[in-house]
Amino acid sequence: MAGTIIDGKAVAARVRARVADDVRAFAAQAGRAPGLATVLVGDDPGSAVYVGAKQRACAEVGIVPFDRRLPADAAHEQVAELLHELNAEDAVDGVLLQLPLPAPLEGPALTGLIDPAKDVDGLTPVNAGLLALGRPGLRPCTPLGVIELLASVPGREAGWLEGAEAVVIGRSNLFGKPMAQLLLAANATVTVCHSRTRDLAGVCARADVLIAAIGRPRMVGAGFVKPGAVVIDVGVNRLTPEQAANKSGLVGDVDFDALAPLAGAITPVPGGVGPMTIALLLRNTLDAARARARAEVPA
Ligand code: NAP
Repeated sequence: MAGTIIDGKAVAARVRARVADDVRAFAAQAGRAPGLATVLVGDDPGSAVYVGAKQRACAEVGIVPFDRRLPADAAHEQVAELLHELNAEDAVDGVLLQLPLPAPLEGPALTGLIDPAKDVDGLTPVNAGLLALGRPGLRPCTPLGVIELLASVPGREAGWLEGAEAVVIGRSNLFGKPMAQLLLAANATVTVCHSRTRDLAGVCARADVLIAAIGRPRMVGAGFVKPGAVVIDVGVNRLTPEQAANKSGLVGDVDFDALAPLAGAITPVPGGVGPMTIALLLRNTLDAARARARAEVPA
């Protein structure tokens, strides 16, 4: 029997609707709406599309978007100056530096300049450290979105991740590592795989929850999956028009057609993890605004 297809668009729509309600309540109390600044350096068309989508998503839930752009030849100091300006701007609760940056700019060095209280991507060393220590902080949006998707799987009771075998393929700072930390926080038993893992398929086949974030089209095939496992496909790979089977030209890291009949539940690409990332960015911005408002109230 084919597994459930997890509808990321529907789950993301629920998160956004809740954020919109909470933004209204925040604005009524604080006398201002939360603000999110996006910083786009250069004119990479893919990055421009992502930034545009984030700006529109903000406006839809009542968050004030600030759209800041710099030319592709901007110097490190120029980007740093803009980030410092946004750190100091009261109306801005979240600052997002769109990655990747044009060479020779260094993403990690510049991201590290964002005030951790406004780091709605959860990528600064301070927020990564807080996550590793299991302390409150802003978490990266895509792994947070995956946790929301796992909580939405039909037929699984709250807390079902506790004690489950979770395998994450990929160990990037952007996704794999924070994903593993969030799964640990949910009391899963976590294994992180990468390009040097021996017997990758064998390790993955133990998983109750298999999460693929590799960047290799349809690499995860039927031999990787225990029947009934929940499979989350984070990969976004663009195929040529000749290779593409769907209109979007996007495929994940998972061979969806091979796994859908085996998995207990599975995310499609597109329409699975992708829509969750922006939804959780909005929620992080609201959370940052609330935390900043609380910090302004004298104890
Ligand atoms: P990344 O930094 O390139 O990391 C890829 C990881 O996959 C690395 O840890 C790498 O291992 C591992 N890997 C590569 N080849 C492998 C192999 N043959 N076997 C096992 N592991 C292998 O990528 P990322 O930023 O984490 O992103 C991964 C994918 O997720 C990309 O397709 C990206 O577009 C997508 N993504 C989507 C969203 C979204 O919003 N939907 C957000 C973030 C990322 P090593 O560490 O050993 O090199």
